[in-house]
Amino acid sequence: MGYNLDLQPLSLPGMELKRPILIAGPCSAETEEQTLETARQLAANGVKIFRAGIWKPRTRPGAFEGVGTIGLPWLKKVKEETGMFVCVEVATAVHVYEALKYGVDMLWIGARTTANPFAVQEVADALAGCDIPVLIKNPVNPDLELWIGAIERVNQAGIKKIGAIHRGFSTYSKTQFRNNPEWPIPIELRRRIPNLPIIVDPSHIGGKSAMIHDLSQEAMDLNFDGLLIESHICPEKAWSDAAQQVTPEALKNIMDKLVFRDATIGDKPRVTLDELRKQIDSIDGQLLDLLKSRMAVSEKIGQYKYDNNITILQTRRYDEVMNKRKEQAERVGLNPEFVLKVYEHIHEESVECQNNIMNKDK
Ligand code: PEP
Ligand code: MN
Repeated sequence: MGYNLDLQPLSLPGMELKRPILIAGPCSAETEEQTLETARQLAANGVKIFRAGIWKPRTRPGAFEGVGTIGLPWLKKVKEETGMFVCVEVATAVHVYEALKYGVDMLWIGARTTANPFAVQEVADALAGCDIPVLIKNPVNPDLELWIGAIERVNQAGIKKIGAIHRGFSTYSKTQFRNNPEWPIPIELRRRIPNLPIIVDPSHIGGKSAMIHDLSQEAMDLNFDGLLIESHICPEKAWSDAAQQVTPEALKNIMDKLVFRDATIGDKPRVTLDELRKQIDSIDGQLLDLLKSRMAVSEKIGQYKYDNNITILQTRRYDEVMNKRKEQAERVGLNPEFVLKVYEHIHEESVECQNNIMNKDK
């Protein structure tokens, strides 16, 4: 594969960003008071990096689209008063110039922007010659290449302090998550670019404040580098993402409860048991989807046999399938006896299903 990236460890002036990195703050800066009060409470709880959306990408027009540039002096006040570093989302060249003008310390590229190479290139070009850390969220769609492409574009503009943010992926069908975590994707990103820090955003993955603790623990157990969590002084009154924000106090409770397990033996990274289990879960999901598609084809065959008055069981075809699977098993290095046993069950279920089709009029 080989990516030609020139990366440096993530850092802010006077601070190395080490695992577990924590970035917290409201989804959006709404008013000066809400921004400053949230920041004060987070700083009092030990948070060092403050996030707040100034320009908000909203699904439909008419929703609150961020306060815009007038919010940037509020962030300047946050820095002066609390000493925290501040971080905002940028999606256009103008956002980049404005954020830099007001002394923002770190930028992030949002999921909708990462999905659009024109927009990423515009942001990257505006960043040329700057030395500011940039975090790149995954694209909304589960496309690892597109995520890496955005990282490459920003890196090619000369930005070396880069991190990735995993915020889950959209799905058409509703799941328990707002954005499906699909953990194998960020795990694969880490495998491909081992020196790229990956921060997990449980707020946008879960979409509900009650899910944040467990998702954060999962992220830490999978050995990711940090967390980005949305926090608001009064979540139920938030102008965006109200359901997923937590108060600074609730955030402190979540952080206090998290267990940070050591993921290294000596200096060798260890693949955690959870990481391996996640891979098994994901592969099993694929196996079941495949089995379902196989059964659907088998049903079509049943219908064909019914329409054409052909018997269900055709011994020659059965022997042919079994012999082929045995050969394929040997070729890929699986025990052929095991594979034949699995296929006997699959075949039995197919016959049963075709039988039901044959007998449907009875
Ligand atoms: C956000 O962080 O508030 C945001 C808009 O996130 P995303 O780009 O992940 O949807
Ligand atoms: Mn948000």
